[in-house]
Amino acid sequence: MEEIRAKAIELLRSGEVKCFIGYERASDGLTARPFFAYSADDAGRLIFDRTCAHNLARYLPDMRGQRVAILVKPCDSRSVNVLIQEGQVNREEVYVVGVVCDGVYKASWGQPSQELEARCLYCSRRVPVVYDHLIGQPPASEPQTPASIPEVEALERRSAKERWEFWRSHFARCIRCNACRQICPACYCPQCFSDQLDPLWTGIRIGLPQNWVWNVGRALHLAGRCADCGGCERACPMGIPLAALNRKLAGRVKELFGFEAGLDPRAPFPFATFKKEEVL
Ligand code: SF4
Ligand code: SF4
Ligand code: SF4
Repeated sequence: MEEIRAKAIELLRSGEVKCFIGYERASDGLTARPFFAYSADDAGRLIFDRTCAHNLARYLPDMRGQRVAILVKPCDSRSVNVLIQEGQVNREEVYVVGVVCDGVYKASWGQPSQELEARCLYCSRRVPVVYDHLIGQPPASEPQTPASIPEVEALERRSAKERWEFWRSHFARCIRCNACRQICPACYCPQCFSDQLDPLWTGIRIGLPQNWVWNVGRALHLAGRCADCGGCERACPMGIPLAALNRKLAGRVKELFGFEAGLDPRAPFPFATFKKEEVL
């Protein structure tokens, strides 16, 4: 924590950055919330611990045009790369402070826990994939990538009819609050397809067909771009298991194209490139 504050003070005092995007203690005194430090005094409020779950890369596109510093865990660092790759963030404008990460706890406002978030159980990175300054001691080796993800495997074992029922029952509960979209660093379109009226992609009514197009459409838009930061599932007030859908699609993209989101900001996106052998 002290090292993060010291780095923020150094960057802010020297004028290298206008703002340091990190975390501060939330008003429940237990969890963390995003914090924008604009001065050395503000920097004293910065914290980092296992309650710092948010993916702060979400804020970078809104800060374009000014030089900022951002604190990233390994999963968040992949989102930074996705945003650079998609031209939403100018690498020269961002000073990335990476933290070595052993996982964050499942916690909600006023309710701490010492149980790791599911994504941290499957995560194979302890060191961010992009940084200008690293905080923490990298391990001798990164953890093994799990061969499969139990929740995805459990769904795959079900019949197509059972899977349909599973998702039907979940999507039917969606209230179209858009929290999953608003928290996602990769959902930055000025006008989302789900809000577009001309042409109309899907109605704004809260009904199963509309919810289905929304949830499946969003998942498809995130295929090969989702960094598995867990933000959407954490934000969903209806407890819809969005991560299972994202992880299934990420697995298919890796299987078909050998591509994982955000590992290399120069790698071409599988859905933005075309190879002759892909002709059906
Ligand atoms: S998914 Fe990985 S990088 Fe992200 S919080 Fe969990 S352990 Fe850290
Ligand atoms: S889809 Fe969800 S898990 Fe993936 S990057 Fe967006 S908020 Fe994070
Ligand atoms: S956060 Fe949950 S309830 Fe809200 S739109 Fe997304 S899936 Fe639906």
